[in-house]
Order: sequence, then structure tokens, then C-alpha cells
Amino acid sequence: MASQTEENYLKSLFNLANEKDEVNISELASQMQVSMPTVNSMVKTLQKNGWLIYEKYKPVTLTPAGKKDAALVIRKHRLTEMFLVNKMGFGWEEVHEIAEQVEHIHAPKFFERMDEMMGFPTIDPHGSPIPDKLGRIQEINYLSLTECKAGQLVKLAGLTNSSTEFLEFLNGRNLSLGTELRILSKEAYDHSIVVSYSNHTSETLSEKVCEKLLVKVM
Ligand SMILES: [Zn+2]
Repeated sequence: MASQTEENYLKSLFNLANEKDEVNISELASQMQVSMPTVNSMVKTLQKNGWLIYEKYKPVTLTPAGKKDAALVIRKHRLTEMFLVNKMGFGWEEVHEIAEQVEHIHAPKFFERMDEMMGFPTIDPHGSPIPDKLGRIQEINYLSLTECKAGQLVKLAGLTNSSTEFLEFLNGRNLSLGTELRILSKEAYDHSIVVSYSNHTSETLSEKVCEKLLVKVM
């Protein structure tokens, strides 16, 4: 059974992996906020458990078992976040820290029951896909708002960042998943975008915000 620390490493490896399932060790160290010697010794432990392949001076490669076990931790995290929002009435900005703890519970039945009670959701409250029981994750190809054109009608479907600060920023502007936005104009100078939605007739969103908003064109 993976320890809490190992599970956190697996999640980071999964998030950092490129299309060849490789992860740069120094990026892993900075994401985990640990020193290189610490990350090197952890990588050896992860290799012994069959989760990755490590060769000196090369990026590490996640094995299929590593990918699957990482996805299963992410599944527990996202199911928990969805449960907290849907069944317990938490705001989407309040759930991450709780899920960071609950994701380490080793009780498959607990999460199966949670899944069932919600009717088997496929996305979490921030629009990210929930991996299935086998650790398979569905690819969602949303556009970033920065890629859209003036005149388009789009629906907010996901976020590339779900930090509390960003979610509070969105709350303050009544922006949530499902909000339909009409793109009124794009500013050539700073790439900000002016949108209208609900009872907001004209709201300017900076490029920094737009690149974190994932949308579906209507
Ligand atoms: Zn989270």
C-alpha cells in the first residue's frame, strides 16, 4: 500500500509527465518543494515499487502501474471534491484542502459509495475529468478563452488552475462552470477580452485570467 508521501509524489509525477510519460527530476523537486538529494532517494523508492524507471542523468519515466496508481489517487481527490460540493454544500473554493487529506484513505468501498450516491459523475467541481475505477482518464479538448474570437458564444467548462485565490476571483464576478459568455472584443495591445454574461453587460478579463478559463464553443 502506498504511503501518503508516495501518493503525493505519484500525483506530481502524473501532472508533470510529458506525452512520453517522462518527468524531469528537478521539476519534480521544485513541485514537491524538496531538495535534489531528497527527491533522488524518493525516486529510488518509487522505482523499487514499480512506479517509475530511473536512470542516472535522465528524466524518470512513469510505468503503466505508476500512471494507474496516480490516476486512482486523483480519482479519490476529485470524487471527494465533487461530493463536498454536491452533497455537502461546500463552495468550489473550499474543497481542495479537504480532498488533499481524504484522498489518502485506503477504503475502496467508501469511494465507490460516494461515486454511486452522486450518480457516477465524470467531472469534478472545477471541470477536470474524474479517472474511472481502472485509472483511465478521459481527454477533454476544451479551448482556452484566449484562443476564441470576438463574436463567439462560449460556455465555461473547466479551469487550468483551481487555486483558492483564483476561485474567489471568479466568485466575485459570478463566473462558474456552465456560465455562457459572449465575447464582445479582444484588445490587441494586452490581449484582455471583454465579455458579457448573465447580468454583466461588459466585463474585462485580463489575459492572465483568460488563459486559465477553458471553454466550449456554443
Ligand atoms: Zn483539488
